[in-house]
Amino acid sequence: MDENLLMSQPAVATRRDPFDRGKFGPQLLTEGEAIRQAVVRARQAGKSVGLVPTMGALHEGHLSLLETARTECDLTVVTIFVNPTQFGPHEDFRQYPRDLERDLAQLGRGGCDIVFAPTNEAMYPAGYTTSVDVGQLGQVLEGEFRPAHFRGVATIVLKLFQLAPADRAYFGRKDYQQTIVVRQMVADLNVPIDIRVCPTIRESDGLAMSSRNVYLSADDRRRALSLSRSLRLAEQLVNEGQRDVAVIRAQMQHEIDAAGGVQVQYLAFVADGTLTPVERIDGPTTIALAATVGKTRLIDNLLVGK
Ligand code: AMP
Repeated sequence: MDENLLMSQPAVATRRDPFDRGKFGPQLLTEGEAIRQAVVRARQAGKSVGLVPTMGALHEGHLSLLETARTECDLTVVTIFVNPTQFGPHEDFRQYPRDLERDLAQLGRGGCDIVFAPTNEAMYPAGYTTSVDVGQLGQVLEGEFRPAHFRGVATIVLKLFQLAPADRAYFGRKDYQQTIVVRQMVADLNVPIDIRVCPTIRESDGLAMSSRNVYLSADDRRRALSLSRSLRLAEQLVNEGQRDVAVIRAQMQHEIDAAGGVQVQYLAFVADGTLTPVERIDGPTTIALAATVGKTRLIDNLLVGK
């Protein structure tokens, strides 16, 4: 990350009054105490506050969360922080795309009120040691391949909820397991915030939007389409009456294999709203998958059997 960017004034104009929405772009805050005061003051003034945690490199998926937050809340806060503790030692923390100026411009156009973009040192000062253990929910699916990921996610999300004690926080269904983990954490730790889950936004050809899609070569991108295609195929099979998970999984795998160069890490069928595997589609079921396409790791999911 270009630390200087966070220290200096943003290139886009900022404004002082967080309720004067949309005129000059969002107000950029980098200090924990500043964001806490802004949120607490807004709530004391009777305003509802919506929080959208992100790692930046924003796309329409992120902006859709902001849009929903704007319709439901008086004041919107988007956080931008590439959280080091949710990346494994051999993952893409360093390469992860970062472009704060572009993000601020997009958020300005999207009508965001406040952007909170802290430095690593502000979030994890020297001597930092506490983290949130999410138990078994963090060990399955993504957790099998990214063992410390949800510890990092839960820890940063709880910290953001503490720094920006909003009424509601907005998450994308794209990261299905994350929504389960976060909901469980706020229930278990009595965090007074309403978790809202918004639909996955896709490219016109079906690819789920992701900040990591920029890593895909043209060839990889074409292969990656087999993932959303396999989910649509599963949906079609369920709509036609197929209930046997083994049959659906085999056809999905066949669809993905036909693209070549796509390695499935997991292809899971779970009762919707949980991470509990099912063998038959007898109710709302989420099909969640992860795969590598070249060097890029992608996840996607779809709700079937509604
Ligand atoms: P990230 O910046 O990848 O950590 O994502 C921040 C938030 O945006 C998370 O709640 C994600 O689930 C959500 N998000 C990411 N991609 C999409 C998408 N394609 N559609 C909807 N939400 C998304």
